[in-house]
Amino acid sequence: MAKRTTKSKSKGKSKSSTSKNSIIVVLLAVFIGFYLLEGGWQDWLGPTDSSSVTTQAGENEGRLRVIFLDVGQGASQLLISPTGKTMLIDAGNNDREQQMVDSLHAYGIDRLDIVIGTHPDADHIGGLDRVIDNFEVGAVYMPKIQSNTKTYESLLRSIKNKGLKVKTAQAGVRLDWDEEVSSEMVAPVTISDDTNNMSAVVRITYGNSSYLLTGDAERESEQAMLSSGRELQADVMLVGHHGSKSSTTLAFLKRVKPKYAVIQVGADNSYGHPKQAILDRLAKQKVEVYRNDLQGNIEIASDGMKYYITAER
Ligand SMILES: [Zn+2]
Repeated sequence: MAKRTTKSKSKGKSKSSTSKNSIIVVLLAVFIGFYLLEGGWQDWLGPTDSSSVTTQAGENEGRLRVIFLDVGQGASQLLISPTGKTMLIDAGNNDREQQMVDSLHAYGIDRLDIVIGTHPDADHIGGLDRVIDNFEVGAVYMPKIQSNTKTYESLLRSIKNKGLKVKTAQAGVRLDWDEEVSSEMVAPVTISDDTNNMSAVVRITYGNSSYLLTGDAERESEQAMLSSGRELQADVMLVGHHGSKSSTTLAFLKRVKPKYAVIQVGADNSYGHPKQAILDRLAKQKVEVYRNDLQGNIEIASDGMKYYITAER
């Protein structure tokens, strides 16, 4: 009897230890499966830890990549779609145009399907003439506002030499870019004689991810976008006009509701950009801020679910 009890106890013990072992094995399998599926801990830890994303062959597959190029005091965003389509929004100033061309080559670009000059200011379109001269270009968009600067004239000449015609950038224009990505202009909504407020603003969505690239749109344009009733929400926002006080009004920021914001600004610029008031406003709304002057090139990619943020430094 005692023996049987012992036996049965021992049986019971062994049964419970077997089931414990199986639980551990199952947990391990789930863990390893998850690890492999997600491409390792680094990715699993999440995109907010920018320095943790490791470079792996093919890691960009199926991702929309938005790269905020460090062009000093100016702006430029390079977009690469999940199927490899390319878009360039602005190209920095004249004095950095060779760097701009080199940068595009470094990202493996030989063709730009869409080129957008958000507005005719030199810190945005300065490098565009050289880019158009050096790359195959599908379509060029610019807002309907003229400028009599040499920079602008040089850009028009490059566009003409390529046999391209400028398409009008304005709210409501849907860009024929990538089937999986929706790209729509949400500004300029109205005609203004102020170049900044004529800035083309592009909203991009891919799966659950969203981006708003604002050019130098200021208060006037932000208000027009708000009253237009168009969808403006975006997890990733380019901070308007390099973080100037004339942009990123609280009402606009609250409507866009970004999680991440990028400020394209050069170190020691004479404008005092970005303004502390704007940095404070972003901090108060709990927006995570990235800056080209501090971090070099900044990439915020998305697989439609999660963001993968990498900075040059
Ligand atoms: Zn600017």
